Amino acid sequence: MKISDILKQDGNRMSFEVFPPKTDDKYDSVEAATRKIAELGPSFMSVTYGAGGGTSRYTLNIARSIEEKHGVISLAHLTCVNSTKETVRERIEDMKNAGIHNIMALRGDLTPEMAAKDRSTRDYRHAVELIRDIKEYGGDFCIGAACYPEVHPESANQKEDIIHLREKVDAGAEFLTTQMFFDNNLFYNFLYKIREAGITCPIIPGIMPITNASQVKRAIELSGSFMPQRFKSLVDAFGENPQAMCQAGIAYATDQIIDLYANGIKSVHVYSMNKPDVAAAIFANLSEILTK
Ligand code: FAD
Repeated sequence: MKISDILKQDGNRMSFEVFPPKTDDKYDSVEAATRKIAELGPSFMSVTYGAGGGTSRYTLNIARSIEEKHGVISLAHLTCVNSTKETVRERIEDMKNAGIHNIMALRGDLTPEMAAKDRSTRDYRHAVELIRDIKEYGGDFCIGAACYPEVHPESANQKEDIIHLREKVDAGAEFLTTQMFFDNNLFYNFLYKIREAGITCPIIPGIMPITNASQVKRAIELSGSFMPQRFKSLVDAFGENPQAMCQAGIAYATDQIIDLYANGIKSVHVYSMNKPDVAAAIFANLSEILTK
């Protein structure tokens, strides 16, 4: 099933993200975490892709096992910044052969070395080029793309970012998933602006439950997200008590998600970071709110 069809269904839905192992010896533990998250019955599960290539070969295996072994729809991520046209064509063929129907088309982050090099010689500079190639190479895929309520760090301003976002949708992206955010007002404001810019496809807000203090620094580094004072107070108060921080982080994410559903958003994606306990706790908190 395609995610575009899931997004047409009524009711409040939730999806989860997993990431592949970095080394072979961790594969079984990632598989086990994936199984436990799948058992919750999310609307779909996404599997990230290592832009550097290290873990990329596992993305397809895990996406396939989510569908075949656990009966949950999967969304396989694919990045292009470090790939040649030939590699991308091979990956698309592999996905076709594996029966994958949903691809999250991404550029991938630039390492400092990549950013310093002449980019005009690369096969891919932006995700829109990958989306065009997926369309060209054929296959029955529903394509998703990334968007940034707080503006992508490389963009000069939000207007420019939204112009490029529109190009991804015009090229064939059927839904967009947001970067994590910790203040829902930023998301509502973004939604207003992209609708005004003529982007009409479904937008799935991405919520990251912060369950330990060290995750805060990493999340800000990765996303550049604004941390509201309410969230900072929580880290100040509970950051040194792991159990309390975990409980408070889950409550904060739950609160964000309830507010999104209450404001008419039907589909929320949770960056569950291979943590079945966190996914299960959020699911349990929303047991009467999520559509069964
Ligand atoms: P793009 O759409 O190419 O945008 C990147 C920047 O270029 C933006 O500033 C944009 O405005 C600008 N731009 C776009 N098109 C043009 C153009 N034609 N001309 C000039 N400027 C342009 N990374 C991974 O490595 N693996 C993953 O699995 C992964 N999953 C992600 C999932 C989500 C939901 C999100 C939000 C991010 C994910 N990332 C992942 C991170 C992502 O790769 C980075 O944020 C990356 O820096 C940008 O990717 P993009 O696809 O948004 O790029």
